Amino acid sequence: MEEKFWNKGAFMTDLNTMIVADEQHLDLIEDPVLRESVRKKLEVKLPLHPDKVLLKIECVGVCGSDVHYFHEGQCGTFFLDKKRDIPYMLGHEAAGTVVAVGANVKDLKAGDRVCCEPGKACGKCEMCRSGKYNLCRDVIFWATPPVQGCYMRYVEFYADLCFRIPDTMSIEAGAMIEPFATAMFAVQTAEVKKGDTVFIMGSGCIGLMTLLACRHKGAEKIILCDLEDIRLEKAMELGATAVINNGKCSEEEFYAEVRRLTDGGPRVVIEAIGNAVTIRQAGELAGRGGVVVLLGMPPEDIIPFNINAIMDNEVQVRPIFRYRYIFPECIEAAADDCPIEKVISDLYDLDDIQTAFNDSISRKNEVVKAAIRID
Ligand SMILES: [Zn+2]
Ligand SMILES: [Zn+2]
Repeated sequence: MEEKFWNKGAFMTDLNTMIVADEQHLDLIEDPVLRESVRKKLEVKLPLHPDKVLLKIECVGVCGSDVHYFHEGQCGTFFLDKKRDIPYMLGHEAAGTVVAVGANVKDLKAGDRVCCEPGKACGKCEMCRSGKYNLCRDVIFWATPPVQGCYMRYVEFYADLCFRIPDTMSIEAGAMIEPFATAMFAVQTAEVKKGDTVFIMGSGCIGLMTLLACRHKGAEKIILCDLEDIRLEKAMELGATAVINNGKCSEEEFYAEVRRLTDGGPRVVIEAIGNAVTIRQAGELAGRGGVVVLLGMPPEDIIPFNINAIMDNEVQVRPIFRYRYIFPECIEAAADDCPIEKVISDLYDLDDIQTAFNDSISRKNEVVKAAIRID
């Protein structure tokens, strides 16, 4: 393979603005500083780092966090710094095919289809050594500023973070393993088991993936709520036992319905919205001795919580941050009985990535999950 070749990728040049660039279209970028910066980022240089592989990326999901950076320049405690980060590449839910491997790579070969775990932890800190590498402060995570993402044709990446997917798995499903990992980690944290009753708050991408993960674990009753009927229909399609549109009833009626459907209260509540109201409600809705897993990230730092409801019922509140050691299990579950690619509602070509992001904002209700195909 050549020593140096050109890539194609999508870059944010400003809030709400994305350009798709390759070496033939660089002159379309008027600003010379920006053009030079994009050019540098499009250069792929070989030989490969000995521990890395070169991937031909084929599908990348559009995550809520990507949309936040695109639209607001911020997500949780991370923010885009115009001077430092622009042109910025988003994207972290990737699948593709191995093109070449570094000298130390033994487990992968050219032609293997893989999905990627997007975060490289330091491996040395106390969190890493204790097995909670998702809490590493020095993690390098795709599309978390200042680290660039992977809306790009070719990506060089750590071999140990690439997981082989079966030939029978679609590349779209491969790209959905990353968001599914979040859902599976929530379900693992809640210790969902056969016969369980689970209430999932939110029927967006992560809520629906959580539903699939609960079904996989053998939960008997899985109830979801959302404000959008279109999403609730999708939840029923994917195997929910019941759904509630909590925008069409009072809080009292909502609570009564959840309790009726769960014999007094679900053992597990998984909050997959990140809204101050539903987070409070999660604590109030969990059954006695139940578990609440906080998965959705609220925009505000301080929110009210009904502490007496939680204490009186001895509800355990378990927040999670990303996931750890879960990709192999997710691939198995997806290959087994979790049709995770069905959560994708809208598929776009890389050239149409601006539309994909615009749609994810303006048609938020219908676009449950967008994904980008890269040729
Ligand atoms: Zn994501
Ligand atoms: Zn670490």
